[in-house]
Amino acid sequence: MTLRIPQAAPQVRIARFRTSIDAAIQRTVDSPAYILGPEVEAFETGFAAYLGVDHCIGVNSGTDALQIACQALGLPRGGEIITVSMTASATGSAIVAAGCNPRFVDVSPDTWDIDFDQLAAAINPRTVAIMPVHLHGRPVDMPRLMAIADRYGLAVIEDCAQAHGATVQGRRAGTFGHVAAFSFYPTKNLGGIGDGGAVVTGDAQLARRARAFRSYGWMEDRGRSELAGGNSRLSELQAAILGALLPHLDSGNADRADVDASYRKALESLAVSGRIGLPPHVQGAVHHQFAVLVSNRDATIRRMAEAGIGTAVHYAYPVHRQPAFSAFAGSELPTTDHLADRLLSLPIQPEVAAAHVPEIAAALTRIVSPGA
Ligand SMILES: *Cc1c(COP(=O)(O)O)cnc(C)c1O
Repeated sequence: MTLRIPQAAPQVRIARFRTSIDAAIQRTVDSPAYILGPEVEAFETGFAAYLGVDHCIGVNSGTDALQIACQALGLPRGGEIITVSMTASATGSAIVAAGCNPRFVDVSPDTWDIDFDQLAAAINPRTVAIMPVHLHGRPVDMPRLMAIADRYGLAVIEDCAQAHGATVQGRRAGTFGHVAAFSFYPTKNLGGIGDGGAVVTGDAQLARRARAFRSYGWMEDRGRSELAGGNSRLSELQAAILGALLPHLDSGNADRADVDASYRKALESLAVSGRIGLPPHVQGAVHHQFAVLVSNRDATIRRMAEAGIGTAVHYAYPVHRQPAFSAFAGSELPTTDHLADRLLSLPIQPEVAAAHVPEIAAALTRIVSPGA
């Protein structure tokens, strides 16, 4: 069924910037260097400057960025990385791919993100790192998290796949941890027309290792592998396109903030009456998703679709409940389970949602109201 209002439509965003994207593609096609050439270098420089961090290493995906970040840190095999289960399964996959073990802790009902008491309680002699996830674009309280990490000497890898431009006390997410990972998957706030990712860090040594891990393990001496690196290079074409989109990231985030504010106003009475739950309001968020809590999700999805409105679920299966991670299931995570059963992402991408908030809110109100 074609929906009148899709949950997301990256191609509509791309179409807005088509002239500069076409120029970027043309430039790359005519370029003398197709691999790790001027486009990747320029994008790395630009994105690092945008974030306010010294080093950016373009890689092939957000998942690879997380894995390479762990590898660059040289974390010991079997070491535990504490993270949340309320995230993309890629967060867990990257940890396992890097030879470590994810240790899932619950999220807080107030922030829907890592519960600091549970985090502190989970630290044990096998713990080597913490991987906070800025879910739906809401930044984790990084100063507080770094204080805990510092006390126990733990590495911190920020999963910034949903948090391009998010800030905590005026400082960008991705600049607090020892290293951070971004994804440029098409639906992300900074999304290309294919896969892409980046590792960012303020540590020159980590940057050097990350660069090696993305390309055969080579360092200064091309052709000599210092590390057992694979191939996870950001493509020139994708870097050129991302470079054309980067100048529009802040205005896109501002438009997302407007949609978020409109939803909150339009849905306030529904939330006050307890028929839906609104997402936590966090300063510095970049509104990657606008997910509400509904109790009868399957029926709500169906009836929203009947009204021509697309919705999505992020994420139906918390990571600790997925078959691949059964060995790491650990203890019960009641808040994560509660959210995973109820979260429903409404359209938030400005190009598809901005003009339709009243209509979307009205449809949701009708659908979740008694006697509907
Ligand atoms: C999208 C995403 C990833 C994975 O990024 P890819 O580019 O799709 O590999 C990892 N973590 C989170 C939280 C994400 O949203």
